[in-house]
Amino acid sequence: MAPDTLSVPLLPDLVRLGATPAGKEEAIREAAQLLIAAGCIDPAYVDSMIRREGAANTFLGHGVAIPHGMVEDRELVRRNGIAILQIPQGVRWNEEQTARLVVAIAARSDAHIAVLRRLTRLMQDEERLNALFIATAPALLLGALSEETAAPTPAGPAADLAERFEWTVDYPTGLHARPASAWVEAARAAPGRVQIRHGDQVADAKTLVALLQLGLRMGDRVVVSADGAEAATTAARMKGVITRLTAKEQADAAAAERKARAPVQGWTPPTALPAIAGVAASPGLAIGPVHVVLTAPPAVPDRPESLIDGGNRLHEALDRTRQQLKALADDTARRLGPAEAGIFTAQAELLNDTDLITRTCQLMVEGHGPGWSWHEAVESGAAALAALPNPVLAARASDLRDVGRRVLARIDPSLRGGTLHDLPDTPCILIADDLSPSDTAGLDMARVIGLATAQGGPTSHTAILARTLGLPAMVAGGAALTGLANGTPAILDGQSGRLFLNPTDTDLAAAHGWIEEQRVRRALQEERRGLPARTRDGHAVEIGANVNRPDQVPVALSQGAEAVGLMRTEFLFLERGDAPSEDEQFETYRAMLAALDGRPLIVRALDIGGDKQVPHLHLPHEENPFLGVRGARLLLRQPELLEPQLRALYRAAREARPGALSIMFPMITTLAEIQALRAACNRIRAELDAPAVPLGIMVEVPAAAVMADALARHVDFFSIGTNDLTQYALAVDRQHPELAAEADSLHPAVLRLIRMTVEGAERHGRWVGVCGGIAGDPFGAALLAGLGVRELSMTPRDIPGVKDRLRDSSLTALRDLARRALDCETADAVRALDAGTSDAGAAGTEAAS
Ligand code: PEP
Ligand code: MG
Repeated sequence: MAPDTLSVPLLPDLVRLGATPAGKEEAIREAAQLLIAAGCIDPAYVDSMIRREGAANTFLGHGVAIPHGMVEDRELVRRNGIAILQIPQGVRWNEEQTARLVVAIAARSDAHIAVLRRLTRLMQDEERLNALFIATAPALLLGALSEETAAPTPAGPAADLAERFEWTVDYPTGLHARPASAWVEAARAAPGRVQIRHGDQVADAKTLVALLQLGLRMGDRVVVSADGAEAATTAARMKGVITRLTAKEQADAAAAERKARAPVQGWTPPTALPAIAGVAASPGLAIGPVHVVLTAPPAVPDRPESLIDGGNRLHEALDRTRQQLKALADDTARRLGPAEAGIFTAQAELLNDTDLITRTCQLMVEGHGPGWSWHEAVESGAAALAALPNPVLAARASDLRDVGRRVLARIDPSLRGGTLHDLPDTPCILIADDLSPSDTAGLDMARVIGLATAQGGPTSHTAILARTLGLPAMVAGGAALTGLANGTPAILDGQSGRLFLNPTDTDLAAAHGWIEEQRVRRALQEERRGLPARTRDGHAVEIGANVNRPDQVPVALSQGAEAVGLMRTEFLFLERGDAPSEDEQFETYRAMLAALDGRPLIVRALDIGGDKQVPHLHLPHEENPFLGVRGARLLLRQPELLEPQLRALYRAAREARPGALSIMFPMITTLAEIQALRAACNRIRAELDAPAVPLGIMVEVPAAAVMADALARHVDFFSIGTNDLTQYALAVDRQHPELAAEADSLHPAVLRLIRMTVEGAERHGRWVGVCGGIAGDPFGAALLAGLGVRELSMTPRDIPGVKDRLRDSSLTALRDLARRALDCETADAVRALDAGTSDAGAAGTEAAS
């Protein structure tokens, strides 16, 4: 033992063995008491330590947690000290993290780096660490933490844990991210360790990257083993999870196979051109020379800083990135569907990887800066993934790197920015190994006319963004792509996912002709987008856009929007790390109104809760958030959220064209909620001497639909949120990975609720709109119009197809369609009615992916 080599004294008085705290907070308080008794900290520092837990994760990994206070409370530290609480039974630290050694740190500066370094070294020697969890003498702990180097684990044959079973991988595409996430979830629920061994390679089943790095392929034999108090149950549970996934994996693979064999749609060259086949990602044809960009990893400078500052910066960057990915997933789920949103959820899961974070911490405690350490950890994980022979798994490397770059940009904003400089001046088809979303979003569209990547998938960020940008794109073209010589003439067909090389003059002429045809078609659509959605017999349906920010309004208008029928204001909160002030909200609403230039704007009051969690509001965790304090329920409980928003809205109303602004409230269930919200509106309006504003409610809860005739008396309009109405009516979590497809808004049960809402509203002369996803489906829109819905609000890109469909119909036919749909027994039967009523043919299908 050599305490004098440490800058923080390690004292026997500061070690407590065999502690049994009931929970994490009690554990922190108990460890903190030791520090208080030793005169290391002011008692007020304990609260700071507890608060720190809300701001960041102090679990270092492998059963070790390092609670410490907030940086700003450092003056409450009287002298450096470290208290060690040994909890042999463990205490739940965070979800699925159990701490057995709680090393509470009181440090005015970075004096405890030496101890952390020893801790991280100990973590590489699990046997020794496990012995410390049950050691019976303080000296053993003090000794281990004081040694300059921990004894390295002797290398030996990979061993299994107590309970084991063998399994042969029968997932056709191997263990890729989706099933691996399910394994991780099951493993994390277990109190002990769970490990997967393939030959000599062993992975901790609680970490996604480690699992993926095994590179398991169909036919590989593995041993799954578990230890701890419930080892046998854990092993049985793991077996259940692993084998239950087989059927789905095989069905998915069969579906993919069928799709791959289906004849490709798109452009066919008149001559037999050599082509590189990939996966279609974004439709359209691009003609030009290729330009190959081999994106080098960014040079990340090593800027060491104190461990506390660096740790804070890292944790904050991780938190912010999680929020950003959550917002992205929510938004994508609404715009493109749950499958696409799943990419972002899976990316966020990569951030929970304790190996990645522990590795970063290890590098930091060795004296490197947080940015450099993070980058190193990400690169080594990604390199291992990229080296795997299975392309599906190897593609995860780009996800990891992409997430890594997001975090890095938060740690060090100077490292933000794309990697695509030095493009040729003349337009080119850009070829890259893979592109991050940031790269894709930042592309210079004057210079890039098409995109082909060696890696990636049709649901990658790159593909999603390319579609949004209207840029023809293919992905997963393989190494043949990056081997092309710069300047090779090519034609990229983003619809079939093919890059044709060295086209002849005949091919070029044909391709130019095809592009011209498409252009004329689009121009026609463009012209018609501006026309009202008036049926052949003169019934007009108002078409709005679901838009959250003023800068999105011009695009919505250019697509033919006549209004904004839903501004989801929670995104003002979700896209940033703090709550926007009343003034900031006012400026946003004012800018929305200005961008709409007198057209109607319906602002929905904050719909927080459910799937839209805002971490910085620190709301209590709910077991069942979709049935919890969500939307109006939260607004009524938190005037500090409701009132600034209403004030900002009424201030905007004072300046707006009369009637341009309407307010609506989400998740209304009862009349009492409407009355309370109306009262708040009236009070604030009077205080501000603002004009009256139409007040509406979202009909998303079946109770509101059933009671529509009673509620209609008290509101000016209804807007039906079919996404939620469907999930509540059919009892299907709209984000459930397996069930989400069953949350079909065309189910007759949902249609009947919509009809009830319309009838209830009509009784009091109120109008009804729909702003859920089904409004943007041309057939859904036709049905809704037939059911008596007067306004439809949707994602801007859906507008042209919906307008075409309505214009090609008569109200009489739509009413008849609605009547027949209400009589159907199943959602499929409703959909089958589409075949017989689609006058508009394929209108609008171009945008669908
Ligand atoms: C809905 O539920 O249909 C709706 C439009 O609201 P959100 O999707 O924001 O919950
Ligand atoms: Mg909703």
